[in-house]
Amino acid sequence: MVRTGTWLSPRRWLNLQEYQSKKLMQESGVAVQRFYVADTPSEALEAAKRLNAKEIVLKAQILAGGRGKGVFDSGLKGGVHLTKDPAVVGELANKMLGFNLTTKQTPKDGVKVKTVMVAEALDISRETYFAILMDRSCNGPVMVGSPQGGMDIEEVAANTPELIFKEVIDIFEGVQDDQALRMAANLGFKGPLQRQAADQIKRLYDLFLKVDATQVEVNPLGETPEGQVVCFDAKINFDDNAEFRQKSVFAMDDMTESDPTEMEAAKWDLKYIGLDGNIACFVNGAGLAMATCDIIDLHGGKPANFLDLGGGVKERQVYEAFKLLTADPKVEAILVNIFGGIVNCAIIANGITKACRELELKVPLVVRLEGTNVHEAKRILTESGLPITAADNLDDAAKKAVAAIKK
Ligand code: ADP
Ligand code: MG
Repeated sequence: MVRTGTWLSPRRWLNLQEYQSKKLMQESGVAVQRFYVADTPSEALEAAKRLNAKEIVLKAQILAGGRGKGVFDSGLKGGVHLTKDPAVVGELANKMLGFNLTTKQTPKDGVKVKTVMVAEALDISRETYFAILMDRSCNGPVMVGSPQGGMDIEEVAANTPELIFKEVIDIFEGVQDDQALRMAANLGFKGPLQRQAADQIKRLYDLFLKVDATQVEVNPLGETPEGQVVCFDAKINFDDNAEFRQKSVFAMDDMTESDPTEMEAAKWDLKYIGLDGNIACFVNGAGLAMATCDIIDLHGGKPANFLDLGGGVKERQVYEAFKLLTADPKVEAILVNIFGGIVNCAIIANGITKACRELELKVPLVVRLEGTNVHEAKRILTESGLPITAADNLDDAAKKAVAAIKK
């Protein structure tokens, strides 16, 4: 998925849990197994009994793949378990809920599991890979599939690229019958299963359009010995520009796996990115953010984070931004680097002085302002009597910030 521009505006990328994606799939007539969702082991046990299935699959819900081969910090191996006994579901859920699950797609400490999915398990005789995504090089949606699903699709693509099949979709025409049937055949579905798979493919495309997805990925899209084509896993990415018309989808976002500082920043229309150094950077614009980080680096320092203020700034935002920056215990100095184009430097200066006083700023502060109303801004800073180090240009500012730490 193309992610350029994420720093240009305070956007979050909507991510849904598997069970939420499957709910959307069900609504579009896509074949998924019956399931319940549970937040406690006893709920999981109850759900397992209520399912009344021959076999049950218990799946940890986190926003990362590779769960099957993941490990919990409770010692339990595997974020996906099959069992016939509801009591075992309760016991396993007890070792999942509240524990961190680490997979090859999570940070190394893993992600805390707060919800599990209890679903009807089905025997799988064959696992295939199927996805629909917006592809820049195709100027629209494209279907990608492989008869070698279930495992790492990247590995299949690298080692056996001839087993990856593509069908470019004309967005005005939609998925054509012959395309869907060809893809189904390429996925290895035979006889009546080919028609069934083609039907699932078309429904998945309807869903893709309906929810303004940028990607719908099903791995595995499986086949059962009874001759059913079923979506066993689901990952949907959404176009955040469509939020205004996808209110119910975006309302499902619980944000519990998001970085709390980033979320607080987003509340104030600020974009915060955490890094691992000790100089906080307060900037406007993604380009300036990158330049600021680079020049700090050049002078032997390391950015602790950067906070992008964006365009139409209000004093309150400047204040909140300072609050966020100083809340990070790693921060030993703050570098403000604002280029006032749309931004009025006097607003920044007022925000800074207010924040310095009210937050009793303890770390050195270096400020470089340039552009609209900068003379007024400089006067505000000087007359404030606060220990603010002024800098003439970006280079000077970075040098002073690095030096302030070394003192
Ligand atoms: P992940 O991709 O995060 O590892 P999956 O949902 O793909 O998680 O599950 C991993 C594997 O578990 C699947 O490839 C499949 O073999 C098996 N599995 C998942 N759901 C079911 C189910 N309902 N019935 C039987 N097996 C399942
Ligand atoms: Mg999977």
